[in-house]
Amino acid sequence: MTDRDNTTHVGTRRLVVDRSACAGHGLCYGRSPQVVDCDDSGYPVLLHELLELDEHIAAAEEAVAVCPERALTLESA
Ligand code: SF4
Repeated sequence: MTDRDNTTHVGTRRLVVDRSACAGHGLCYGRSPQVVDCDDSGYPVLLHELLELDEHIAAAEEAVAVCPERALTLESA
């Protein structure tokens, strides 16, 4: 076992936005600014192409859970 860093990698994930379903009201980036920002129109901008850190995966799970439009999904990468 190596001691490279303080993170635990449980599997890379990818957060995906369905822009046709997104209403742009911002609950996702309000809840999880570690992984989602917004553009000038209020639509989400994903900050990481791949999620590897536990804290980012947890934040992405919260963003998915808070989205009332079910516009976010968390996939295995
Ligand atoms: S919470 Fe869902 S619907 Fe609202 S901006 Fe985020 S992705 Fe779009």
